[in-house]
Amino acid sequence: MNLKITCIPGDGIGPEIVAEAKKVVEKAGEIYGFTPDFTDILMGGASIDVHGVPLTDEAIATAKAADAVLMGSIGGNTTTSPWYKLPPDKRPEAGLLKIRKALNLFANLRPALLYEELAAACPLKEEISKAGFDIMIMRELTGGLYFGERKTYEENGLRTAMDTLTYNEEEIRRIAIKGFEIARKRKKKVTSVDKANVLDSSRLWRVVVEEVAKDYPDVTLEHMLVDNCAMQLVKDPAQFDVILTENMFGDILSDEASMVTGSIGMLASASLNDTKFGLYEPSHGSAPDIAGMDIANPIATILSAAMMLRFSFDQDKAADAIEAAVKQVLKDGYRTGDIMSQGYTKVGCSKMGSLIAERIR
Ligand code: NAD
Repeated sequence: MNLKITCIPGDGIGPEIVAEAKKVVEKAGEIYGFTPDFTDILMGGASIDVHGVPLTDEAIATAKAADAVLMGSIGGNTTTSPWYKLPPDKRPEAGLLKIRKALNLFANLRPALLYEELAAACPLKEEISKAGFDIMIMRELTGGLYFGERKTYEENGLRTAMDTLTYNEEEIRRIAIKGFEIARKRKKKVTSVDKANVLDSSRLWRVVVEEVAKDYPDVTLEHMLVDNCAMQLVKDPAQFDVILTENMFGDILSDEASMVTGSIGMLASASLNDTKFGLYEPSHGSAPDIAGMDIANPIATILSAAMMLRFSFDQDKAADAIEAAVKQVLKDGYRTGDIMSQGYTKVGCSKMGSLIAERIR
């Protein structure tokens, strides 16, 4: 079976980390009986240098023709790179916004997983971190406050600003369905986070999530207010499985959850639409300060590729095997510079990719 995957190596460390993710997916394919069919496209600074724009229509068409997109990261040093002398709609990041829109990616998934082997990097107290945690934050990506009508005006001689938070039931339903489907592949619990004691949009959110829950009797649903959720994430993160929430709450909570894991080079992410299609990328940026040095941590991208196999291709066993190989490499004592501590073996980006590929069973 051929898996059609468009790759965006991008800028900075992007090409290095994507090469390692490809290596690992190819190895998983040999064992689990699929062949990845990779096609690279340019995006971000790499595309500006060749085509003068951060993303061409041809590149979008290639991405649309695939079943999934695997991305490294885009962008350069925002103070020194000439890309940032261009108008905002011509800069590297404009490519990312354009592709998200073109592919209608409305659901953002960010796992926050504490590896036992990296527990020392967790900023929480040991009595909390020792329980470990494995949370999937599912954030609505195209509605809410960030996309509502906004204006700044003068009223009664005072400068005044307004933003609006709107959701319709269809926008809530489609992300809720994704949340329950993903919970089914995990520990079968959804915590829907809102501010239903104050906001009308949250009250509608709650009603629609309850309606969707009826189709998933095997998944436990609970509701939690966002302020409580922010507190619970540092008090008892082990209680969560899938956190389902709207755009701005998800933006804030996913950053909080990733901070409590303590290691940015380990955090994967996915953005999905209402088909099996998804764009998979690490949560970190293009790290131009360490580009081309073979020292970047490729694990976030490798774990993003595992999410791709799970969610876009239903290759759950291959995804499990990649995740297990990552754990095994950490257990065997190998570390890239960003997660290095005394007593471990320091390896570069390419070596880390090879060590993980070798451990896929
Ligand atoms: P960054 O995440 O690239 O880097 C922050 C720090 O973390 C740096 O010291 C970097 O060396 C380190 N780091 C990041 N990933 C690492 C890895 N895999 N291994 C080892 N160390 C790693 O954030 P930044 O410096 O604020 O941004 C750099 C560029 O990335 C900017 O142009 C920014 O716009 C872009 N960016 C892109 C995306 C994206 O493509 N989705 C996301 C965030 C930032």
